[in-house]
Amino acid sequence: MNWDEFAPWGKRAAEWAQDYHLSKSERPVRAQTEPGEVLNALPDSPPDLPEDMEQVFDDFEKIIMPGITHWQHPRFFAYFCNNATPASVLAEYMIANLSVQSMLWQTSPAATELETRVLDWLRLALGLPAGFHGVIQDSASGATLAAVLTMRERALNWRGNKEGLAGLRPVRVYASREVHTSIDRAIWIAGIGEANLVRIPVKGANRMMDTAALDAAIKADIVAGYQPAGIIACVGGTGVGASDDIAAVSAVARKHQLYLHVDAAWAGNAMICSEFRALWEGVDRADSIVFNPYKWIGGQFDGSVHFIRSPEDLTRTLAISPEYLKTHGRDGVINYSEWSISLGRRFRALKLWFLIRAYGLDALRTRIRNHVGWSVSLHDKISATPDFESVTPPFLSLFSFRYAPGGVDDLDALNQRLVDGINDDGRIYLTQTRVDGKFAIRFQVGQADTTEQDVMMAHDVITQIAKGLER
Ligand code: PLP
Repeated sequence: MNWDEFAPWGKRAAEWAQDYHLSKSERPVRAQTEPGEVLNALPDSPPDLPEDMEQVFDDFEKIIMPGITHWQHPRFFAYFCNNATPASVLAEYMIANLSVQSMLWQTSPAATELETRVLDWLRLALGLPAGFHGVIQDSASGATLAAVLTMRERALNWRGNKEGLAGLRPVRVYASREVHTSIDRAIWIAGIGEANLVRIPVKGANRMMDTAALDAAIKADIVAGYQPAGIIACVGGTGVGASDDIAAVSAVARKHQLYLHVDAAWAGNAMICSEFRALWEGVDRADSIVFNPYKWIGGQFDGSVHFIRSPEDLTRTLAISPEYLKTHGRDGVINYSEWSISLGRRFRALKLWFLIRAYGLDALRTRIRNHVGWSVSLHDKISATPDFESVTPPFLSLFSFRYAPGGVDDLDALNQRLVDGINDDGRIYLTQTRVDGKFAIRFQVGQADTTEQDVMMAHDVITQIAKGLER
């Protein structure tokens, strides 16, 4: 395929996409294929000669589409969402066409400067004070890894990268068990070791870190000869939305001069609405914060917004400047690859720019407020339904519940069968979690096209499928 054939195919793809989005609610949300079905429909070896694009497109429809789980479906209530709003999809198309590498200012000044401006817009939108600088990372995992490396280096007086960790005091990092597994991974990759990720017990309805226990753990580690480096707090944890008291955690961090990273990958989106900001009160005292616009406001995957207090500490940890990357005579410009783990960087700022301009913050705020309100209504309705119980109340638009009819020995197994039955049915898509060891069904509202009817329909589906289960 050549560029002179591109426009008709581009038009065809755009028409396909529009039809897809306008009719997607008729499809089952979770793919209904069996393992191996797609693999077996694909030839064992690649073609040596070009194939007709018509045939490629046809196979996309016939082989690939049946194996797709529809993340853009309005009744996608599983995990957190992966929202792709039309304006940001258009930007993604432009990004793919330009395919710039925005690793250095000079490799695309517009990409760098748009990133600086749009992230400052987002800082203002979230109500964060001046003094936070933004950078777009590939993922929240990447942002957290950058934060963990920075806290490690800062605590080791910048010796870790140069000398390796073997001869240095073991670094300690503190978090509850409610944080996302990307924190565990960052600790592994940073060479800190899982044994040095100190788990702090949680308390209260929000399952927040017990800050007295946090303070005691840090003190005990200092006495034992460890090197405390940082604390990772969460706002809106993945399981049930656990949230630390950021003001209290930051006071402990300050007392011990530790780095504080806040993972608000999902809940951070809601902070464009001022009424939710009490949920992360004290965040202005964090050293870094991450949130994923694709999880709710709709600047689609990939791209995570990472706010940091000290670009100097971050670049001191991550920047490498071999001769071929030096931009002589261009001091004072930002080279964002020095702020990230990977050197190569996509032009992700464009989709956030298209998103914010095409919808405006007010429409995004309305969507979030609606989702939270509908989620609370559904939670209350499920809680009032005989044989159902709330497990965790709504945190923003996320809650959990379970089916608990009397006389059943293994409620965990029954609820697993309920989740499987719901997802095989296909009208809605849900996933499970565990709360204090017991199986619970998670429900979150966050897809951009979801309506109140979609959310309320979930009640019918859940109760119908539950009724049909053998006990
Ligand atoms: N943090 C939280 C709270 C999450 O829910 C997730 C993913 O769901 C992540 C981090 C990891 O995000 P990413 O896939 O962008 O690395």
